[in-house]
Formats: sequence, structure tokens, C-alpha cells
Amino acid sequence: MAQTIWIHKLSDPKKKAEADGMDYICEHLFQGLTQSGKLTNAKGWNPFDSASTKEGSSYRALFCDTCAKNYKDGNVRMAKEPVLV
Ligand SMILES: [Zn+2]
Repeated sequence: MAQTIWIHKLSDPKKKAEADGMDYICEHLFQGLTQSGKLTNAKGWNPFDSASTKEGSSYRALFCDTCAKNYKDGNVRMAKEPVLV
């Protein structure tokens, strides 16, 4: 079983711009953003233009190095909790 990569939606256009225009970020970058209020590249910075879920949808997402390494086609899932940024 491939490890699931959880992604969080960036609802704030300013944050999207900071994320190189990506619509989603992985949970690790999201945690950093939640804690410090800004996106940092401390955990890596890997934009994926089509990160795909097992349902076949794909998203523009920014991954940390760990997630970029773990990424396989279809192991991305959208986090359900609302994003408060
Ligand atoms: Zn990550």
C-alpha cells in the first residue's frame, strides 16, 4: 500500500501566490503554515502540477521533500477539515 499524502486547500489567494500558484499544500507544509503563519521551504519545496488521487482527479499541489519522495500516482487525498488560513 502506498502511503497516503494528505493535501490541504489554500483558500487565501496571497498564500496561493506564496506557494508558487499551487492550490494545495501537503500536511507538513500546512503544519508549518499553521504554526508560523507563513509558508517556508524548510521541509522542501516541490510543486506538482498534477498530483492525482485514486479517484482520478488531479490537483496542483506543493509537497515537502518527504511527500515528493513518497508520491505515487493516485496516493493523494484531500484533507477533510476546513483550512483556516
Ligand atoms: Zn509533506
